Amino acid sequence: MASPLESCWQYLVTHFSDFQLATLGTFIIHESVFFLSGLPSILFERSGLFSKYKIQKKYNTPAAQERCITRLILYHLCVNLPVMLVSYPAFRYMGMRSSLPLPPWSVILSQVLFYFILEDFVFYWGHRVLHTKWLYKHVHSVHHEYATPFGLTSEYAHPAEILFLGFATILGPALTGPHLFTLWLWVILRVMETVEAHSGYHFPCSLSNFLPLYGGADFHDYHHRLLYTKSGNYASTFVYMDWLFGTDEGYRKLKAIEKENKDSVEIY
Ligand SMILES: [Zn+2]
Ligand SMILES: [Zn+2]
Repeated sequence: MASPLESCWQYLVTHFSDFQLATLGTFIIHESVFFLSGLPSILFERSGLFSKYKIQKKYNTPAAQERCITRLILYHLCVNLPVMLVSYPAFRYMGMRSSLPLPPWSVILSQVLFYFILEDFVFYWGHRVLHTKWLYKHVHSVHHEYATPFGLTSEYAHPAEILFLGFATILGPALTGPHLFTLWLWVILRVMETVEAHSGYHFPCSLSNFLPLYGGADFHDYHHRLLYTKSGNYASTFVYMDWLFGTDEGYRKLKAIEKENKDSVEIY
């Protein structure tokens, strides 16, 4: 008997074509997850809620938030959507399918884990290149316009950088030819991860408190609030690339000082 998930999938594949699901379906899922997961940090900033957990004391003005949202909608329609439409034949060629049955969870989860590791690796090196003088000035400085990030700034970037980020995100799926369901799960988790990393809030329940190699908001916020030549913390998801290549030294020193201050306050 088909599981509830397979029944839902059956509905989708009988009512929509493979092309519609892979392009418009992926676009709608991306937009929904991105704007919904980005909404809380905007509301927290505006209301002052959870200010105790805000990493920086600075707040973005509503005008600055709205400028980010307007630009994002424009880029998503004029860059992301056309890229999704154009890259469909390539995905089909690489073996992507949407038909039933769905792959076993062991395959889905191992592929998604592989995508996270590969994306983090590609992103790390690409991001370091983006921090060289010319590319920073002409491309990456757009993403750094927000030194105090909030969730939606995660995709606020120059169109050339959006293409690079897109490449890093779709490289894993392009290499493995996954089921469309796996691709959607990857998109959902990757979007939620990058939105959280830019949220500007570090909660006691934040994932980075429980997953040792996971970077999270505190790790990436540091990257945004420092000058582009001094920031470090270039990886997107994990902390080990920066640790391996020594680009997290400043961040580690800061954490050590913070811990020392906290310990001395507790002693006295
Ligand atoms: Zn950067
Ligand atoms: Zn960022």
